[in-house]
Amino acid sequence: MAELERIENFIDGKFVDPLGGKYLDNIEPATGKPYSQVPDSDARDVDLAVAAAEKAFEEWSRAPATDRSRILLRIADLIERDLEQVARAESIDTGKPLSLARSLDIPRAASNFRFFATAILHTESEAHITDNVAFNYTLRQPRGIAGLISPWNLPLYLLSWKIAPAIAVGNTAIAKPSELTPMTSFLLCKIAREAGLPNGVLNIVHGTGPKVGAPITAHPKVTTISFTGGTATGKKVAEACAPLFKKVSLELGGKNPNIVFADADLDAAIAGSVRSSFANQGQVCLCGSRVFVERSAYNDFVNRFLDKTSQLRSGDPLDDKTEQGAIVSKTQLDKVMFYVDLAQKEGGRIALGGNAPEPINNRCRDGYFFKPTVITGLPVSCRTNREEIFGPVVTITPFDNEEEVIGYANDCEYGLASSVWTQNLNRAHRVAERINTGTVWVNCWLVRDLRVPFGGMKQSGVGREGGEEALRFFTEPKNICIAK
Ligand code: NAD
Repeated sequence: MAELERIENFIDGKFVDPLGGKYLDNIEPATGKPYSQVPDSDARDVDLAVAAAEKAFEEWSRAPATDRSRILLRIADLIERDLEQVARAESIDTGKPLSLARSLDIPRAASNFRFFATAILHTESEAHITDNVAFNYTLRQPRGIAGLISPWNLPLYLLSWKIAPAIAVGNTAIAKPSELTPMTSFLLCKIAREAGLPNGVLNIVHGTGPKVGAPITAHPKVTTISFTGGTATGKKVAEACAPLFKKVSLELGGKNPNIVFADADLDAAIAGSVRSSFANQGQVCLCGSRVFVERSAYNDFVNRFLDKTSQLRSGDPLDDKTEQGAIVSKTQLDKVMFYVDLAQKEGGRIALGGNAPEPINNRCRDGYFFKPTVITGLPVSCRTNREEIFGPVVTITPFDNEEEVIGYANDCEYGLASSVWTQNLNRAHRVAERINTGTVWVNCWLVRDLRVPFGGMKQSGVGREGGEEALRFFTEPKNICIAK
């Protein structure tokens, strides 16, 4: 058997082995087989990365914004130049369709760099005049070393969403991608080096949460932590950061309501709902996994929704025609199956899916595939309707009026995102105002303007990313008060 490619850590501008010399197999979800190896790093590697980031901070934080901007723009250009290679790596690593990686994930990673590269050229500083006594102005300075931890579902998209603002404003960074999907961040390091990013500005340490993520969050010199992942892990991160008074942003899980009123454009609502239910096999934190449909439109919606969902083409993620790829890991597939089983015990009816598709081809015969699954007949309060599944499983529930569905939408510990489908403008505003989620999409889903605040309410997180919020998060405001 050919030797597996080895991913390396990126510390102080060099590709290095983990000090402990250990590696983990990196499994391709579509085949269930290892296709590369990822460093199983530990706290010693984190220490090295911290030393490199500390050394680089002085010069990088003082570099003119135009210099930092130029390098980030070059990174964006190089991501686009290598789009096909990076998208393919993303598809192999995650199991998502290559077409999705090519059209969404990787272009968005380039946009993240370009967005913050230009944003730092247009920042403003506040000034406050205190009558005849003094005037104040606010300096926003980079905070030092940022720890950036991300999950497996949108690996480069989410990590670059953190790296770009952190380093754009002059911080240095230690990033840890998910151990399940390390390949695109490895490619990003090659690109960063080619773009001329100075050594130590971006360091990537690969490995597991307990052995790499926890030492990053606990390190006293890493003063800022931006974390995206599950709510249970987010609690651990918050606990580690609290005694050290770190500045923390937590982007966590979701169980997002998708509300369809009878007055909606049903064609648009059905197309949008199929997408919001099953994009990336339902493994997007923003997926609308709880669909609520007004009773008078319920039967029509369900029939057409099932019909359209059944046409989604499951297949080898590397096949251009594939619309549904593989689930990221065996563990995640087991979790999906657990909830499908639980849903039936809770009284639900599987209206579609509920099992694995026929073997797709010889290459993918041991891959982690599961059909898009639709469950009806469940009470709103059951576990299936409350807990995050993070897979291709949605529930559909009828409702009778606006008040009732707002109650359903909010009856959940999470508060990340929601969608509302209606042609009644007044209703759209009324309902959007009362749903407790960080984003409410009306007659659309996953439309992302990088300037808007992004994040969750309740157990879906603390803080906001995006645009001005990110620039503020990664800087420390200092007030200078000068007597007149
Ligand atoms: P996870 O919480 O298991 O892991 C996320 C990251 O944290 C990984 O890099 C992991 O190695 C690391 N980690 C694990 N234990 C740690 C610890 N003790 N200290 C520090 N780091 C640790 O999440 P996952 O399974 O990779 O991703 C799926 C979850 O991410 C879902 O809950 C999903 O909703 C959420 N998510 C949220 C958003 C958002 O923007 N709110 C976006 C994408 C995914």
